[in-house]
Amino acid sequence: MAFRRFALILLVAATGARCSGPSGEQPASRVATNGAATAPTERKYLLERVDDAAVVQLYADGFSSLPVREKTLIWHLYQAALAGRDIYIDQKHRDALEMRSVIEQIVAHPEGVDPAALREIQRYTKLFWINNGPYNNLTARKFLLMLTPQQLSAAVKAASSAGATFATRPGESVDQMLGRLGPMFFDANVDPIVTNKTPGPGKDILTASANNLYSGVAMSELKGFNERYGLNSRLVKKDGRLVEEVYKIDGRYAAQIGAIVKHLEAAIPFASDTMAAALRALIQWYRTGEDADRAKYDIAWVADKNSPVDTINGFIEVYMDARGIKGSWEALVFYVNQEKTGRIRTLADNAQWFEDRMPWNPAYRKPKATGIVANAIDVVVETGDSGPVTPVGINLPNDQKIREQYGSKSISLTNVRDAYDNSTPSSMTSEFAWSPEETARGEKFGPLAAELLTDMHEVIGHASGRQKDGLSGTPQELIKEYFSALEEGRADLIALYFLPDPKLAELGILPAADQDAIVRAEYEAYTRNALVQLRRVREGTQIEEDHMRNRQMVIRWLMANTKAIEERTRDGKRYLVMVDPVAFREGVGRLLAEVQRIKSEGDAAGAAKLFDSYGIHFDPKVRDEVVKRVDALNLPSYTGFVMPKLTPMVGVDGKITDVTISYPMDLTKQMLEYSGVAGSR
Ligand SMILES: [Zn+2]
Repeated sequence: MAFRRFALILLVAATGARCSGPSGEQPASRVATNGAATAPTERKYLLERVDDAAVVQLYADGFSSLPVREKTLIWHLYQAALAGRDIYIDQKHRDALEMRSVIEQIVAHPEGVDPAALREIQRYTKLFWINNGPYNNLTARKFLLMLTPQQLSAAVKAASSAGATFATRPGESVDQMLGRLGPMFFDANVDPIVTNKTPGPGKDILTASANNLYSGVAMSELKGFNERYGLNSRLVKKDGRLVEEVYKIDGRYAAQIGAIVKHLEAAIPFASDTMAAALRALIQWYRTGEDADRAKYDIAWVADKNSPVDTINGFIEVYMDARGIKGSWEALVFYVNQEKTGRIRTLADNAQWFEDRMPWNPAYRKPKATGIVANAIDVVVETGDSGPVTPVGINLPNDQKIREQYGSKSISLTNVRDAYDNSTPSSMTSEFAWSPEETARGEKFGPLAAELLTDMHEVIGHASGRQKDGLSGTPQELIKEYFSALEEGRADLIALYFLPDPKLAELGILPAADQDAIVRAEYEAYTRNALVQLRRVREGTQIEEDHMRNRQMVIRWLMANTKAIEERTRDGKRYLVMVDPVAFREGVGRLLAEVQRIKSEGDAAGAAKLFDSYGIHFDPKVRDEVVKRVDALNLPSYTGFVMPKLTPMVGVDGKITDVTISYPMDLTKQMLEYSGVAGSR
């Protein structure tokens, strides 16, 4: 499970009143908060704005002082991460890699292209890179290239003259290729939504979703089908029957997976014994594609508790699949931030204390909270489903049975969080806060409150609870398309529930004197977010993204069932005001008991009722008002990160003697380099 920052940005109040102009150029005016001695106090975070996306440089300050052996290990894992990057883009849409190739060639060979057309192609291409395809990662909707087909064709011809090459299918001309891809670039009605979990009555969640995890398959055809490779296959209807195209070294994505395996093998000699065992298990899974090998990899990965370097690489999160079964490919490479690991470890060490006090049916508490490993880490590279738009916290594995038996690992991405804190403009808090006191509280305690929420969400949230005895099938299988949102809601509710607990101060996780203010700031921010997050869904009247659904559900449920929140209007503007933190917490406890019951019992109807009532539908008039207020502030809706770049130094014997880190500060440069596109740019 990944904790997505984009749904939470609004909970964070950056200090100082900075606004970013239309150019997006904005110096980072705050002191770097990561505490590393090597961190410069002033440096650039926000690089540019592309529509409602911010582009931000990610820093990994601790890398340079790692031992060469660990740097070398990271170098090989970094290459493995880059080697699989195209898999996820292909999973997004069957045409996405071809589309990318066309626009990258133009961007890399811009001479002679009409300047206005070029600007639009650059805008579109940047959005495509940030979102790993032509769909907005928040709304799941397609964004368009705002040119005519003739303008694109002219740009292609100009770029050709400047040295660009355009790949076509056998026997196909460039014009025919552009004609084939045209509807994806220009037509809003062709494949409009990448993941559509609620397509409306009579419609099918698979055929209504444009992603490439399925081809020609509807839900009704899955009845009685024995799915052997749920997580790691594309399901295709061929000659009237269902075929699983397995992602493995000699299956679908063979070229990418072969390269990943080669780099993982090169990493093994530099890994600790436990990590080497996990890497071997991962390679075995990539070789066979078998679920039994995936389970062995999960177990080996969880067993590697103490390595200072780690990676996540594979088909992991299931948010893109409307069924919640098929894994999106992703890779992260990271090292432990020793300074920041203290707080999160403390939570993990006391997991049983929290488990014993979960406000739900004691039968659904874990008698023994096994092996939760929690680290604050700095990420060096993220690709696929986790980059350039990145989570801020991750808890894996997702396999409930393995979690219960072997435990799980949680990571908090501290350098990502620092980059957010240093690049997010404020002013949102004051626009949607009811009083100056609420604004001040948000600015003073918001960042710490958000960090605590993420840590608890991952460490004591996802890792908690158990299934009803004798239940057959995993909660994912039983609760289906509502599972991810339900599970995210469960983890959030646990964090909200324990935030006021005196135990946190006793453990030194937060200062006792500030706890009331921290709780109030977090409850207020969480409440405001239900209103403000609607700005991200600019079309339609439904929320699709799971974290957004869960947050909407929690607040709307509290509004319907407690007196903690008031809806008020002032000067024609709407506000959600948290008025009673005690009632808020009491409501959170009640809702959490119900959410856990639904998960433990696999109650799909209960989950559907909860989300249909509170989490999905909204009044477009309210959204339009929010959009207007937010647009007046010119704030980004989400952020794509430019990753650090590694460069190995090789000795005369061909051995790596050191690996240096640098910061490209340029999305276009990094993306063209990743794609291997050499340009005249
Ligand atoms: Zn989560």
